[in-house]
This record gives sequence, C-alpha cells and structure tokens, in this order.
Amino acid sequence: MVIVETFPVGLLQCNCTVLGDPASKEALVVDPGDEVEKVLAVLAKHGLTCRAILNTHTHIDHVGANDELKRATGARLMLHEADLPLYDNLRVQAEWLGGMAAPVRADVDEHIHQGDEVTAGALVAQVLHTPGHTPGSLCFHVEGADSLLLSGDTLFAGSVGRTDLWGGDYDQEIDSIRKRLLALEDDTRVIPGHGPETTIGHERRRNPFLV
Ligand SMILES: [Zn+2]
Ligand SMILES: [Zn+2]
Repeated sequence: MVIVETFPVGLLQCNCTVLGDPASKEALVVDPGDEVEKVLAVLAKHGLTCRAILNTHTHIDHVGANDELKRATGARLMLHEADLPLYDNLRVQAEWLGGMAAPVRADVDEHIHQGDEVTAGALVAQVLHTPGHTPGSLCFHVEGADSLLLSGDTLFAGSVGRTDLWGGDYDQEIDSIRKRLLALEDDTRVIPGHGPETTIGHERRRNPFLV
C-alpha cells in the first residue's frame, strides 16, 4: 500500500500530497504550495526521503514552497515546460492575488511529459499531460490496487478548473479530461488540487461539465 497524505497549504488551500513507498521509504511530493514545515512534518512522520517535487502546474498557490522543500531535501523539481511562462512570472501572479509576497523561483531540474514515469522506490507515478487550465497542466496516476489520480486544477469534485487565466482554454481542458482522465477505471480515487476527493466513476456520471 502506497502512503498517501493530502493536506491543504497556503492562502488558497492548495492540496499538497505526499506519496511514499513504504518499503524503500522514498517519496514524491506533489504541489508544495506553501507551509514547507507541514510537508516536512509529514515526511518525517513516515520516515520518508523526498526524491522528487512535482508541480501539477505553476500557479502560485501550487509552487510556493518548491524552493524551501528543495533546499531541505535535495529533491529534484519536475514540471512541464509549457508552464514556464507562468513560473517565470511569479511576481505578476502575486499581483493578481492582491500583492502577496512572491515565493522564490526554484530552478527546474527536469521537464516531464505525457507518458513519462516518475519513480520513488517501487512507487511509479505516470505523467498525464492535460492542458486547458494552463498549457502545462499535468495529472499524476499511480496504478495498482489503490489506483489514484492527482488531478491538479484540471478536475475537481463536481467541477473543472477555471480557464479564464493566462493560457487557459476551456475546450482543450474538457478534451484533456475526456481523453486522459475518463480513460481511467471508475474506482480510481481522485485527489484534486483543491477541495474534497472524488472518483473517476462519480465524475463520469455526475460532473455537470462532463455528462
Ligand atoms: Zn491553478
Ligand atoms: Zn490552484
């Protein structure tokens, strides 16, 4: 059983998720948006070593603690390069949010793409490119008995991500969800970038943007 811990961080309550392989004690951290001490406490609680930091996309609420977490763990930072224009403008994004302090932009170690696999011990996260909310939006799928999808701001319980910000494209987002996410099994557990979790089957049948 993969270790999965999700907890909201920061002003916009972005869901950060720690995925851990219980045998090797290696871990992936998805979207450390802020509050690095919370992330480090979860890693420590399970005795995990963070191997990679993954960003579902580079909106400011998802990337805020990249730099502090990299410094604390030495982990590699991975994201899709189509989101670099957003990532390179964290100060502009901070202004959209009413002038909050912009976080430090940690250097990106690796660009990841559709079909890539990121591993931590025996844990394998498959990379799904799902443009629409942003051009470089990614979802991460962990296969196995406990099939799990981290859907970022692309798919929420009962909703989909907003597409009115820079680089957003509604038709592309719906296409991404249909092509990449609804292709997964109904019992796949879905942890979105904000709010409560859901399943692929529930969203397939009930999400007003998809039925
Ligand atoms: Zn977003
Ligand atoms: Zn968000």
